[in-house]
This record gives sequence, C-alpha cells and structure tokens, in this order.
Amino acid sequence: MKTALITGAARGIGLATADVLIEAGWQVALVDRDGDALAEAVTTRDNVHGIFCDVSDPDAVDGMITETLRHFGRIDGLVNNAGVADFGPIEETGFDRWKTVMETNLDGVFLCTQAATPALKDSRGAIVNIASISGLRASTLRVAYGTSKAAVIQLTLQQAVELGEYGIRANAVCPGPVKTKLAMAVHSQDIIDAYHDAIPLNRYGSEREIADVIAFLLSDKASFVTGQTIAADGGFEATGVGLPALRK
Ligand code: NAD
Repeated sequence: MKTALITGAARGIGLATADVLIEAGWQVALVDRDGDALAEAVTTRDNVHGIFCDVSDPDAVDGMITETLRHFGRIDGLVNNAGVADFGPIEETGFDRWKTVMETNLDGVFLCTQAATPALKDSRGAIVNIASISGLRASTLRVAYGTSKAAVIQLTLQQAVELGEYGIRANAVCPGPVKTKLAMAVHSQDIIDAYHDAIPLNRYGSEREIADVIAFLLSDKASFVTGQTIAADGGFEATGVGLPALRK
C-alpha cells in the first residue's frame, strides 16, 4: 500500500484529503497538534496512524517522520497542509503574530519536507504544499498570511527543481475559500458575501473539492506534473479587474 503523510490532518481540508486517499487505497499518517481532534479522526478511520506533532518544531518533526517510517515503512506522498490564519492590518500585526503565522505556514513546510526527503527519495514520491489564493492575490489584512502562502509557492518551485533529479515531484494547491474552522475564524458575514460576489462560481468550495485536486497531484496520473501551482478557487484567481460595477 502507498503511504501518505498529511499535516494538519485532524480536520478540514487535511482530513478530507485523508478520506479521499483512503478510498483510493492509501494508508495515511495523520499529523496534527490538536490531540483531541486527532484522536477522534483516528478512531473513526481504518488504515490511519495518528501522530501528535507541531510542524514548526524541528525536533518534533524529525520524531514524527521516524514514527511514520516505524509504523508504515515508507512515505510515498507528503501533504504539507497544516496552516494557521491571522488577519490584521500591517500596523497592528506585531512581530509575534507575524512569526506565529510564518512558523506553521512556511517553516513547517520547509521542515517536514526536509525531514521526509530521504524517504521520498526511496519511494520517488510526491509533495503537495497547500498554499492559498491569498498567496496569488494580495488583499488587505493578509500581510502575514498572504506572504507566508506566496513563500510556500516559491518553496514549491525550489523543491521541484532541486528534488526532481531524485524523481520527487512537488506541486502547490491554492484553495479559494472553504468553510473550515480556520476560515470561519477570520471570515465575517461581510467577507463571505463579498467572496460569493467576486468568485465566478459564486460560492465557497468544499473540503472534498480541494482534496480531490491534492489526491490527483499525489497520484501516478500526475506523474509528469511538477513545479506547478493549481488554484482550486471557483475561478477567483482568473478574475482581473473585479469591480462590482463592471459585472452588473
Ligand atoms: P483547519 O483549521 O480546519 O485545519 C488546519 C489543521 O492544521 C488543524 O487541525 C490544526 O490543528 C492543524 N495545525 C495548525 N497548525 C499546526 C502546527 N503548527 N502543527 C500541526 N498541526 C497544525 O483549516 P483548513 O481550512 O482545513 O486549512 C488547511 C490548509 O488550507 C491551511 O494551510 C490553510 O492555510 C489552507 N487554506 C484554507 C482555506 C480555507 O478557506 N479554508 C483557503 C486557502 C488555503
């Protein structure tokens, strides 16, 4: 059986990705720092192994990779999905808030990929990094979040270029808005309404719609795809001059 390791897998997009992969015959290491949610996710699924880990802690990440290999013996797919959102104006985003976002969203992707690289070399495996539409388009309040996600897109290119010679592929998925706990903590009703208005498909996406794209990129069907960024965003990135008056 192929083995995937998904960070931030206790709920939301990460857990939906685990379910899609399990249905496709994979076994999955579910990695998260929310112990209660992780325990619940593990007890209700077969072919999974839960590992408590904060992806921003280098020693914990090394131990998490060791534990994955002890349990499953291999890693064919790495999904760097763990993320935090903190929206605020530039002048109110203190350095502590900036660092908290960067530690998980950017450092975590770097650390987990670096630690998993020997195993991915062995399997000629694939990496999918979860960035965001906020890494492709700027907006207010996302100085830390948007910058962290833009950096993840560049990190994906670095990984694809350098690790390609080992047969490792690396791609990024940029979700548009999905009603997960992360999004609902920072999306007010005004923001939800504005997203519906600005997105060509006029709605939020589902966890499953993002998970299907991630699973495709991990699969052999994407065997010649690397260094790409795919927005699963209802067409939000495609919109250019999005003035409401021009859409009437
Ligand atoms: P979520 O809050 O439902 O799930 C995120 C999971 O990551 C949680 O279980 C949380 O405990 C875990 N996590 C956070 N920091 C961690 C850390 N340092 N170590 C280990 N686990 C950690 O959020 P989601 O919406 O499913 O987000 C998944 C990814 O998708 C994130 O990278 C997010 O930035 C990205 N994303 C989400 C949206 C959206 O609208 N929901 C849009 C674009 C991108």
